[in-house]
Amino acid sequence: MGARFAGRSAAETGRGIVDLVRSSEVISRVELAELSGLTEASISRTVKRLLEDGLLVEVGQSETTGGKPRRLLALNTNGRYAVGLSVDEAQLTYALTNLRGEVVGRLVSRGIGTDTPAVVVRRMVRETTRLLREHEVDAGDVLGIGVAIAGRLDLRGAAMRALRDTTDWEQFALGPALEEALGLPATLEHDYVCAALGEFWVGRIPASSDFVCFYAATGFGAGIMLGGEIYRGSSGNAGEVGHVVLQAGGPECWCGSRGCLEAVAGPRTVVRKALASRALARRLSLTGDPDAVRADFALVARAAAAGDAACEQLVEESAGYVGATLLSLTNALDLDRIVLSGPAFADAGEYYLRATQSAVSELSFMRQVHPVTVELSTLQMQSSAIGAATVALDGGLAAR
Ligand SMILES: [Zn+2]
Repeated sequence: MGARFAGRSAAETGRGIVDLVRSSEVISRVELAELSGLTEASISRTVKRLLEDGLLVEVGQSETTGGKPRRLLALNTNGRYAVGLSVDEAQLTYALTNLRGEVVGRLVSRGIGTDTPAVVVRRMVRETTRLLREHEVDAGDVLGIGVAIAGRLDLRGAAMRALRDTTDWEQFALGPALEEALGLPATLEHDYVCAALGEFWVGRIPASSDFVCFYAATGFGAGIMLGGEIYRGSSGNAGEVGHVVLQAGGPECWCGSRGCLEAVAGPRTVVRKALASRALARRLSLTGDPDAVRADFALVARAAAAGDAACEQLVEESAGYVGATLLSLTNALDLDRIVLSGPAFADAGEYYLRATQSAVSELSFMRQVHPVTVELSTLQMQSSAIGAATVALDGGLAAR
């Protein structure tokens, strides 16, 4: 345990201590020293600072059988807050959480659609301010805002690229823009990583689990959590499973490669195939607008769920490819759990659940050694918003 704290800065130590207090209801300084491997003097200094800062509170004394009673510490649950914002072309989802990561407020508004970055940033500021005001939270008590978003993150974690193919969003550094307009630290993270953190944080996933949260919005991604830690890769972009190649030399993908999962089975492809049948496109009132892929995909998914045979076939084909990809990931990483999450699963998630369950239970290389749990998230877009808030909490505590 002690090794976890070796070589940490004062701020990182503070964050580590807050984590330890958060994971136990109440705890004494002596226990903190034992768990962290730090000296009691060092713990006392850090705890003093965290108490002054209003992150921890003292909550009485422990019962002892002889010796000095120990003063107990707990998290000052409502001492600080964080905002998580999940950005999607069809919906913005905000979650206001306290220091424990409990959601104390929510706000949902329309997605970014075809709006320019400047317009969207102004709206995000208005909506964040409204969320804080509605819940009587002072902006000074907010550690930061975490933003869950699709696209590539650059090495500074600041810029977000290729959210959409050919608009002014492509090279727009959302993090710094939001930080300046809002006056709060802003951290960007992949939507699929936030979803995995959200699922983990609300306590549905045991800490010992090696799991993947497969996230479906306009594209696909997977938050990979191994041994209780997110696997981030060399540049923080691990998890782009939408661009796992399933058909070498297959159809062109928007990323420049060929035969990617997204190119053969993503919502864009399902919609394109539905549009190829004029009768089907008319029957479902598909818009065919490239900026409304999610809305069109939802129409196909809803029709499939209602028993439309042509739509069922399209969705089942897509689900089969997703199942095959998750089977490959399970074999490569020896996973024990897969969670399907994200707005694209809202209407036809059951198809993807069945396809993944059957692929993994019948074909996983380790099927005789251990089972793999596959489940559909009940949190939907809340998971990425909650996860984004935990990113902000973490970043905010580390920066203090
Ligand atoms: Zn691709």
